[in-house]
Amino acid sequence: MEHLSDRIKSLSVSQTLAMAQKSRELKAKGIDIISLSLGEPDFNTPDYIKEAAKKAIDDNYSKYPPVPGYNDLREAISKKFKEENGINYAPEQIVVSAGGKHSLINVILSLVNPGEEVVLLAPYWVSYYDQILLAGGKPVVIETTLDNDFKVLPEQLEVVVSRKTRLLIFNSPSNPTGMVYTREEMEEIANVIRKHEGLFVISDEIYEHIIFKGEHVSMASFDYINDQVITVNGVSKGYAMTGWRIGYIGAPLWLAKAVDKLQGQFTSGVCSIAQRAALAAIKSDDGSRQKMRDAFLRRRDIVCKLLKEIRGMKVKVPQGAFYVMPDISHFLGKSDGEVKIRTSDDLALYLLDKAQVAVVGGDAFGAPDCIRISYATSDELLIEAIKRIRGALEKLR
Ligand code: PMP
Ligand code: GLU
Repeated sequence: MEHLSDRIKSLSVSQTLAMAQKSRELKAKGIDIISLSLGEPDFNTPDYIKEAAKKAIDDNYSKYPPVPGYNDLREAISKKFKEENGINYAPEQIVVSAGGKHSLINVILSLVNPGEEVVLLAPYWVSYYDQILLAGGKPVVIETTLDNDFKVLPEQLEVVVSRKTRLLIFNSPSNPTGMVYTREEMEEIANVIRKHEGLFVISDEIYEHIIFKGEHVSMASFDYINDQVITVNGVSKGYAMTGWRIGYIGAPLWLAKAVDKLQGQFTSGVCSIAQRAALAAIKSDDGSRQKMRDAFLRRRDIVCKLLKEIRGMKVKVPQGAFYVMPDISHFLGKSDGEVKIRTSDDLALYLLDKAQVAVVGGDAFGAPDCIRISYATSDELLIEAIKRIRGALEKLR
């Protein structure tokens, strides 16, 4: 331990992955855990994508691929950006990486100098915070409230952005809140960004296909800030391909080249077979994306209805992704006679122990009054899980 670098010592364990691991271990011991901790679709990868991967093996896609991704994949992504998102990224402005997470760290490492500030909007996805620390950056957190749909106001942004601010990380639909910004709300944010030369925005759009109300708007589609925006996306969520590990960015050319250089020293081009599968995913549509979205919508309604019936729980109905982030502050400071609940992490552990349901405490998301529930599992398990949660919470006084 003492020999570890300061860099790694300053890093926290990913709480989403830690909770998922904990529930796997308990399940392996025969304990009947329902895991609502990990954000991943419970569906299998659609068949047409799996077929493309099998074919890629037979076609001997077994050599090192180009560092930023196969040309035809980058062309397909460029076309997707244009047709689905109304943004222009030439294939050279696209870099394919090992998942959206890898795309994010590539961009952060390429842009942020030690000591520079990166603005996060809480509740934020866990890994943003630690990736900033890894780059030596300084996270500056803006709090949002449940009453304002967990959305940032442009004036809040104005207050914190200074010459030291290098980057803002923006995510709609949001993990962990499920909130989706409207075009008008995004335009107000874009108007703040345009005023600050040298400020960049990562727009993490990985949940763009899982949206229940309104439309998905890409930050880079406001063309007056397009050279300040890096669009991050990937196939994990929309195509049920979390294990394939393919993410990508569209970025200003100079930045795409820097990310290419970085990746060339870290990973080289990412898994050839997974890239061929991602190409099939992006190029065609067999309707499974829509079916999965419809299932998530149905589950959202089930979960939110049941959660709202729990006394003390405050729920904002999410409009996208597959998470809900209820406010559980009513239960903080309470006890079941055995365990005292001081923090949202305590509550998550209490639910794991007493209800055998895994959720993630809000602390790691910068939301200490909340817990995150991922509802990407079957209707039956969701109903049973919320029943158990309710039972355990009713014991707290
Ligand atoms: N961004 C957000 C907001 C996410 O929830 C995830 C899921 N882990 C990612 C990026 C990264 O996804 P992946 O690395 O699986 O492509
Ligand atoms: N995005 C998912 C989550 O938030 C997957 C886990 C992770 O990569 O952190 O649960």
